Amino acid sequence: MGFKQKMNRILVIEDNKTLAKLMAKKIHSELKLEVDVAYQLSEAKLFLKKYKYFLVVTDINLPDAPNGEVVDYLLKKENRVIVLSGNIDKKFRENMMKKNIIDYVTKVGVDDIHYIVNTIQRLQKNQKHKVLVVDDSMVIRKQMKTMLQNLFFHVITVAHGEEALGMIATHPDITLVLTDYNMPVMDGLELTREIRKSYNKNDLSIIALSSNENDEIIAMFLKHGANDYIKKPFSKEEFSCRVNNSIEALENIHIITNHANRDFLTGLYNRRYFYKNAGEYFLNAVHEGESFAIAMINIDHFKKINDTHGHDTGDKAIVDLANILRANTNEHDIVARFSGEEFCILLKNISASDAMAILERLRTKTASSVTESDNGEKIKFTISIGLVTNNEDTLDDTVNQADLMLHNAKRNGRNQIACN
Ligand code: GH3
Ligand code: MG
Repeated sequence: MGFKQKMNRILVIEDNKTLAKLMAKKIHSELKLEVDVAYQLSEAKLFLKKYKYFLVVTDINLPDAPNGEVVDYLLKKENRVIVLSGNIDKKFRENMMKKNIIDYVTKVGVDDIHYIVNTIQRLQKNQKHKVLVVDDSMVIRKQMKTMLQNLFFHVITVAHGEEALGMIATHPDITLVLTDYNMPVMDGLELTREIRKSYNKNDLSIIALSSNENDEIIAMFLKHGANDYIKKPFSKEEFSCRVNNSIEALENIHIITNHANRDFLTGLYNRRYFYKNAGEYFLNAVHEGESFAIAMINIDHFKKINDTHGHDTGDKAIVDLANILRANTNEHDIVARFSGEEFCILLKNISASDAMAILERLRTKTASSVTESDNGEKIKFTISIGLVTNNEDTLDDTVNQADLMLHNAKRNGRNQIACN
């Protein structure tokens, strides 16, 4: 329970009541987070006793704490803190950033509230990312780890390139590598080259950091596949911004790729992705003699569901079937929606009898499942399946063969599998 509270609550401490309420309203409406508002330190202390917070956004000067005491209090209590201030004096700002706060925001207007909302959203998403820090200096490793943890990342640290490669091999979910240049055993440039042999820029981001004065090094890093470069020494603000930008770019590319490869209604792969992935797999599997199976699946008398219960209910049936297909196949199998109520599945590395058993299970699970229409009617439907376990010369021919088998299954009375 404590964990959940921490994930979902924000505390705003600000004595300007209009501004405080506006901020709370924006954070709540845009991020669906619970927000508490305190107008002075004593109130904030009461809230902090009661709840654990994901983040505290605080004004620097409060009626009962006029000299910024609130910041040190919050940090001592291990809160993650964004500081607000009307003071944009350079010295003051530098002083503030020396403390272990996440960010410092000048409160001028609506744009700044927007910036805070975006920052909180970024931090929430950072929780899903694993970052690898590669540096031979323990002091720097520790320092970077603290900064990254403050940004809610999961952090792993290693001392040189070779160790890093081992870590990436055992943690394929690492999304960002921060690497130093000069290190024993394997330097950052060589590490970058090695990583790029297996991971492209859109799957794994690399940021190089170095105090090397030689500008050629920067160019070398970028040419060999680093996504970005940070010159040491750097400000904490630059570091956070570059790290967040890199992660955001990865996420955006991931979203775009998903849109291109998937079907909007069901979230299954689309026909285009099926042929791309299955095409590569087919050539390799035939060459290696790996057995696999391709099945075409079509809902029986689907037109009747549409005609009787409406198009929306028809769509529901399609989504329910998609979920059954996805839940009862392996992660590396390709389940695609080819058109309206027609699906194609590639089962990889499987014997004919195992493939038959899986499809039989899909058939019976579908036949026994119930789709509920918008007005609460319970609808049952069945599927026909064309299965091919011996490949033809090409992927196209094999899919066509599965389609032929599907027609046989329909002709023979539906709710059954026809196999070549
Ligand atoms: P059979 O058992 O021979 O497969 O008959 P059927 O009625 O399932 O097949 P038919 O090809 O005659 O009709 C399929 C219908 O699916 C026709 C079309 O209007 C409808 N359809 C196509 N795409 C969608 C979709 O995305 N959503 C819905 N709800 N219906 C769709
Ligand atoms: Mg049909």
